[in-house]
Amino acid sequence: MADTLPAAVGKPERFRCPQCSAGMEFDPETGSLKCRFCGSVQALPESNAPAAHPFNEAQAHLFIPISDNAMEVRCGGCGSVVAFEPPTIAGSCSFCGAAIVAAPKAADPLIAPDAVLPFKVAKSAAQTEVTQWLASRWFAPSALKKMAQDEGIGGVYLPFWTHDAATRSSYTGERGEHYMKTEDYTETDHNGNTVQRSRQVQHTRWHSASGQVSRSFNNVLIAATKSVKEERLNALDPWDLGALCQYEPAYLAGFKAQRYQVGLLQGFEKAKQIMAVTIQEDVRADIGGDEQRVDQLHTEYSDVMFRHLLLPVWIGAYRFQSKVYQVTVNARTGEVQGERPYSAAKIALLVALIILVIVIINLLGRQ
Ligand SMILES: [Zn+2]
Ligand SMILES: [Zn+2]
Repeated sequence: MADTLPAAVGKPERFRCPQCSAGMEFDPETGSLKCRFCGSVQALPESNAPAAHPFNEAQAHLFIPISDNAMEVRCGGCGSVVAFEPPTIAGSCSFCGAAIVAAPKAADPLIAPDAVLPFKVAKSAAQTEVTQWLASRWFAPSALKKMAQDEGIGGVYLPFWTHDAATRSSYTGERGEHYMKTEDYTETDHNGNTVQRSRQVQHTRWHSASGQVSRSFNNVLIAATKSVKEERLNALDPWDLGALCQYEPAYLAGFKAQRYQVGLLQGFEKAKQIMAVTIQEDVRADIGGDEQRVDQLHTEYSDVMFRHLLLPVWIGAYRFQSKVYQVTVNARTGEVQGERPYSAAKIALLVALIILVIVIINLLGRQ
């Protein structure tokens, strides 16, 4: 029977194995802390994701380091900042592959994470996914194969915001209603005679419209990282946000967490753009008719709430001909997303083979 992590453990012993006092790490397969040496397991306290914070609380008491012992380092290559728990080391940058040369320092305060999706896909399983992904990429250079090896990918929590808001929008616009009209026209028939014909033509009659729509938004998810391209991040969806747990520094043991690069206010501006798409649809539905024009739209936001989330990926970066390529695995689903260069040598080899085959066929044909 696994012990539960004591609530208040002395600072340096926080993730020490109670059996052998080696460092423990979060184990994706059991969802617990596990000793790398003796295999003893410590369960984490059961927790549901906490409620969101009112927006105006962000300035006050939420600014704390990600954990008491966390160290933090900035990559000189891409500027990303990651935090980790000793004895984990910075190594090379997960996002750009550059060696980290800066010395780690104690982590700076930030709007602390509220909730986390723990790692569920173990590293070995992620490596298998990457190997399969690579096998289906024909012209990938051999250098890429190291992505499936031990130091190729590392576990990183990426920062996200979720926003909730109640919106009330007033609009003015126009409702277009279609009607058919018979129109006469002339045509030249196949004998060269001009003939009178008629046809039905669709027209639109416009009526002015105005009104109000309201909607509540929950958990609008905004990436707070700029280190992974937006389309790659979107392609890692879906995230099972229903399984979020309350953040606890133990989830960081053995992993890194990226510091947000998109601030809370900037994140809310992006959330508004996402909400605006739905609000437009609501307004068009409210206007009704066959076509709609929206001339003016004003939205007021109330009960704005937020949460800072950490979502888990296995990620590695490699440099090929001075460009950086990333491979990312959703550590909840195993979904692989990545980009890879084409190996000029491999393509040249294939082209040479095709030419050779053509030459041989020609030679055989002449005999
Ligand atoms: Zn142990
Ligand atoms: Zn970097």
